[in-house]
Amino acid sequence: MLKPTDWIIDELENLKNQGLLINIRTIESPMGSKIKVNGEWVLNFCSNNYLGLANDSRLKKAAKEAIDKYGIGPTAVRTIAGTTELHLKLEKALAKFKKVEDVITFQSGFNANIATIPTLVDEGGLIFSDELNHASIIDACRLSKAEVVRYKHCDPKDLEHKLLETKKLKNLKTKKLIVTDGVFSMDGDIAPLPEIQKLSEKYGCILMVDDAHGEGVLGKNGRGVVDYFNLHGKVDLEIGTMSKAFGVVGGYVAGRKIIIDWLRQRARPFLFSSAMTIPDVAGCLAAVKILNKSDKQVVKLWENTRYFKKGLAKLGFDIGKSQTPIVPVMLGEAKLAQEFSKKLFEEGIFAMAIGYPTVPQGKARIRVMMSASHSRKELDICLDAFSKIGEKLGVI
Ligand code: PMP
Repeated sequence: MLKPTDWIIDELENLKNQGLLINIRTIESPMGSKIKVNGEWVLNFCSNNYLGLANDSRLKKAAKEAIDKYGIGPTAVRTIAGTTELHLKLEKALAKFKKVEDVITFQSGFNANIATIPTLVDEGGLIFSDELNHASIIDACRLSKAEVVRYKHCDPKDLEHKLLETKKLKNLKTKKLIVTDGVFSMDGDIAPLPEIQKLSEKYGCILMVDDAHGEGVLGKNGRGVVDYFNLHGKVDLEIGTMSKAFGVVGGYVAGRKIIIDWLRQRARPFLFSSAMTIPDVAGCLAAVKILNKSDKQVVKLWENTRYFKKGLAKLGFDIGKSQTPIVPVMLGEAKLAQEFSKKLFEEGIFAMAIGYPTVPQGKARIRVMMSASHSRKELDICLDAFSKIGEKLGVI
């Protein structure tokens, strides 16, 4: 007899046949430039550990001390059970670092997006969203029940065209939002934020930028994309994640006080889900302190990025239009990307193939993530492996 879940068997088989079945590796060591995966030490080019902070002794010490003082879990949502002083300290430190009026933290960057968009725009409202925005923005837009208008990727002309086309825009009471990733996570390109900001002002829209991959990477001491374009005070809110450059986990919204006040009253992941754990908060606080004091790791990240990209381009690889430490090695078909990634792993390089639906069909790639923790020698080993496999598979 047919079981109600039989369709899943077919779907999984389909994924396998298309080379899209995800294989999650098991890591048996701390995160670093080298990690132990399924019993083997390999060079790590997968993680978003941009600044190498995930296993930093200062973050670990802070987390351990905080556990001794406050325990581990927050035990309930903050609006019901109260909030620790440590959470408030982190929000203050982040606000100072980001040069904004206020900050509210969430359990993750994904949650920060889900929390924010439906709280700012609802049924009857309008959202203008870059067509390549992150999945958490797409889901948050759906959840809001607002009308979502997708504009062409990084194209302010198309955005203005869409703004002019949308009749409801003229109604002053309509809630309106423009939302874009700051750095696009699959291509590593940067949103044209100054132009988008001008349009948000001209057409009376709230402007929100997701800075998940700009945090710790762009701007002075890694303050992010708003700092990079010197747009302080002109962007209403930035979404941040502490799971990437900060090396921990957690999300936040940084921006105008009125918006943060409203999120504290109405954002559902704030009202109905417990806060970040104590060690996470303490680790993040230590990361902000490190970034405030020094840009050493940010400088190293960019040195590594320039060196590696130059090396790949010289070998003849297509590395797309990346402007950041996200290096997409464009391969086209998902099966080829999977085969390439498998061969890299055999050479001791952990770099994942990314295919549909994360990127469009026919745009599969190996996404190589740079980190300040990589040594020059490790980058050379990786480049050698790319050269060998690229030739073998007829890519270069
Ligand atoms: N926004 C963007 C642009 C991202 O790349 C990610 C992570 N992939 C997130 C949000 C979600 O962040 P987190 O991992 O903290 O949930």
